[in-house]
Amino acid sequence: MEWTDETIARLRELWAEGHSTAEIGRRMGISKNAVVGKAHRLNLIARPSPIRRDGEGVPPRPVIPRRVSGPTLPPLAAEAPTVPAPPVARPIPVRARPELPKPHVVRPVPMHTPRPQSCCWPLGEPGTRSFRFCDAVAMQGKPYCTEHAAIAYVKVRDRREEAAA
Ligand SMILES: [Zn+2]
Repeated sequence: MEWTDETIARLRELWAEGHSTAEIGRRMGISKNAVVGKAHRLNLIARPSPIRRDGEGVPPRPVIPRRVSGPTLPPLAAEAPTVPAPPVARPIPVRARPELPKPHVVRPVPMHTPRPQSCCWPLGEPGTRSFRFCDAVAMQGKPYCTEHAAIAYVKVRDRREEAAA
């Protein structure tokens, strides 16, 4: 094949149109290698191939699926342990419901409630058997007997005096 100005112009034209080298060769009646070689010598700008983008003459590497040799694992679904369903709280039938023991009624020991006219000055340790109220006759209109009322109201008066001071 003689490269003339005409064929070179034709090559440039087809190249610029973006045809593949094989297509250019077919249209020009020359081999693809001749097109590639001439384009290289003409310093034609490499353009992305419409077929493959990883370079001229480098066929894309075929993806070969890797063969699994040996026994294959069973499907995951079969391997996965079955998760037991959460226990459903079964309602107890009314008849089967055990008889609740009747609450043992503990009679509370009646606290010594001082009579209104009795002194309710606490004596002893609260919560112990020794705890009791004074139970002496209270003063008229007062919750304490004379003795304890004196203590109580003296204390109150003392506190008030302290607060006032
Ligand atoms: Zn008293």
